[in-house]
Amino acid sequence: MLFHSTRGKDSDKTFEEVLMQGLAKDGGLFMPNHWPKIDIEELRHFDNFIDVAKHIVPLFTDSSFSKIEVENLLDKTWHDFDKKDLINIFEIDESISILELFHGPTSAFKDFGLQLAAAFFNKTLQTQNKTAVVFGATSGDTGSAAIDACKEFSLIKSFILIPEGNMSEIQRKQMTTVDKENVFPILANGTFDDCQDIVKKGFKERTFLKDNQYLLAVNSINWVRIIGQICYYFYVSLKINKLSEPLNFSVPTGNFGNVFACYAASKMGMPLSKIVVAVNSNNILDRFFKNNDYSKMQVNETISPSMDISVASNFERLLYDFYLNRDSDLCFNLYSEFPNKSIKINDDLWNKSSNLFMSYSSDDISTYKCMQFYYENFNYIMDPHTAVAADAVKSLRDKLSGKTVILSTAHPAKFPLALKNAGISINNTPKKLSEVLNKKETAKKLSTEDNSIFEYIKEKN
Ligand SMILES: *Cc1c(COP(=O)(O)O)cnc(C)c1O
Repeated sequence: MLFHSTRGKDSDKTFEEVLMQGLAKDGGLFMPNHWPKIDIEELRHFDNFIDVAKHIVPLFTDSSFSKIEVENLLDKTWHDFDKKDLINIFEIDESISILELFHGPTSAFKDFGLQLAAAFFNKTLQTQNKTAVVFGATSGDTGSAAIDACKEFSLIKSFILIPEGNMSEIQRKQMTTVDKENVFPILANGTFDDCQDIVKKGFKERTFLKDNQYLLAVNSINWVRIIGQICYYFYVSLKINKLSEPLNFSVPTGNFGNVFACYAASKMGMPLSKIVVAVNSNNILDRFFKNNDYSKMQVNETISPSMDISVASNFERLLYDFYLNRDSDLCFNLYSEFPNKSIKINDDLWNKSSNLFMSYSSDDISTYKCMQFYYENFNYIMDPHTAVAADAVKSLRDKLSGKTVILSTAHPAKFPLALKNAGISINNTPKKLSEVLNKKETAKKLSTEDNSIFEYIKEKN
């Protein structure tokens, strides 16, 4: 399986090249040259997550690694989960279930994608006898999942910029209290956008790198993260009905990686009814699915900070594959003027949306109400990101037929302030989260206005 860019000017790439490069040279996102098909009959024989992953991951990695190599890697990839099976399914009633994806070490679903990324990064570095610098900015859970996934691999040094702003204290401390020689959290005085500008500049100039060293991105456009997420869609479908009936999935959405993984699973043969794209008041996706208007606006701070985005990077993959039938010239043209000019596609193409997608935008007040509703009626405590997806289902329920799975992307204990404001008290905070609060923070404070961040990386590299 080889890969190519959505914008058509970077193609015939192996898995390893795509893994280490991240973004395509033309600014587009990498896509597999075709959708591999899963033999559903065969998958039905499996009953644990790793076996399912062993059936899926090698389909995308065969240009670089043998099946045996990948199977051996997968035996060790996902670690420190507090459920043997990695996930948990909580049944609300006969038609609604909650898929808990937060049982990994950082209590958010990003562990699934980033632990797989780190395992493949490390394998590649070992084979090529090289080292790497991971450099990224985070507005929530990406940074902690990246740090945790890479911290045991001595060939990788992680430098993560933590902006001033909206993330919870626990989210910040998960990054600043990791006491490891190859982990460098940086408290940057600037917004998330300032931090992203610095990261972009770093990737362009690369002044702090040594010879023969990779600079790796951990943002959600790396294809390997999508692979890790495809696995749990197949797995939950297997658990719920042996892949016999199409399910609906309601996904709390920011950069669209999680929704795209659901779409990808369906292209590979997973039965699927509808995807509910659930967003907070940062509603660019809701505006697209409702009005064919994909236009960038200012970011609002909400109580679901990991979904506070102005554009949804992975949406480009859906546009290219689903709407534009893989016409890369058209995709190139639409993105060459974006965000100055908003994206609006031909109505004939856009009308396809309703076959597969519904969307919903939930503001903070309605998110709080949804958290309270589930607490009072089902004694179930959910985090504010999950509540955005649950709120969408509450409102769209009459239009959904069959069973619906709400994806729960973070443990509620990560957001104690939101719980408090909703009047909910939690008594099962995982030890790993409560411990973090008492540990000493050791982050470097640096400015985004000069070169000090690059100088610091150079010094520590
Ligand atoms: C990252 C994140 C999301 C958004 O996921 P995308 O794949 O970017 O759409 C939702 N919830 C939580 C808790 C997250 O950390």
